[in-house]
Amino acid sequence: MLYQLASQVSGILMCPQCQHSLQQTHGGAKCGGCGLQYRYMNSGALDLRLQKPQKYSLEFELGLPLLQYPDCVFAPLLPNPMPQVDYSGMATPNHLSGTMLSHFPRAEGTSSLALDLGCGDAVHRDVCERAGFHYVGLDYESPSAQILGDAHSLPFCDNSFEFILSTAVLEHIQFPFVMVKEAFRVLVPHGKFIGTVAFLQPFHSRSFYHHTHLGLLNTLQYGGFTVEHIVPSATYSVFVAQARMTNPFPGMPKSLSRCLVVLPHVLSNVWWTIGRLANRGVTRHSHVLSTTGALTFMCRKPGD
Ligand SMILES: [Zn+2]
Repeated sequence: MLYQLASQVSGILMCPQCQHSLQQTHGGAKCGGCGLQYRYMNSGALDLRLQKPQKYSLEFELGLPLLQYPDCVFAPLLPNPMPQVDYSGMATPNHLSGTMLSHFPRAEGTSSLALDLGCGDAVHRDVCERAGFHYVGLDYESPSAQILGDAHSLPFCDNSFEFILSTAVLEHIQFPFVMVKEAFRVLVPHGKFIGTVAFLQPFHSRSFYHHTHLGLLNTLQYGGFTVEHIVPSATYSVFVAQARMTNPFPGMPKSLSRCLVVLPHVLSNVWWTIGRLANRGVTRHSHVLSTTGALTFMCRKPGD
């Protein structure tokens, strides 16, 4: 039933097919424009995925100078000296570092919404609620999601969310430029978009596009975002990522193969440290940037 969703959530829903508002029905919702019916799944999620193919036009401007960006965009992320949310004493997901969490925004009002875009098992609920947000988890197929939807055609009105979190999702999106434009559309002006994306992870779970830091900057800027940080993970290197997500030594126990990759991980760091003596232009951070398994990004929708 649509009333299972909080009123502030049902109020922002729209038909992903024609962008018209939805009307509550006994078993789900009906579009007041095109008449499509949307129903609840057994999991309790309202299924607002596209029901038929839909055209989406993108425009690119060619012949422009290469990307412009201040160096601070790719600089190592420092802890926010004035974090807005106190996460002390709270068990937080391992993939969200304390430094990353110190940059999370606090809800501005009691009805502020946070979208977990590609929420999976909804492990970010507590983190978002601690920040004062009403949590909305959307996924394409997870039974833990409140709403099933397509990241290419979000079933939400413009300017609905103050905060969007999207971890390890962008690499699984068939048309990442479209998803980023959709995130921009449903975010309020000045709203924050934080997420992660695979770089040198192995192919996994139908991943389409793993991003370099420049590719990620380009994708986010194309969407309209002001990019504040793109940060490589120093601990989650290409070696660690490969060992955790695939077994580089088939037949070997995974625990042993994970131990073995520590050696090239450490050797690589040592080698680059020595190499710096010969080439002062090479920094520890530039090494991490080119060999990381995944990148974290933080950006904002500019205000009017
Ligand atoms: Zn419709």
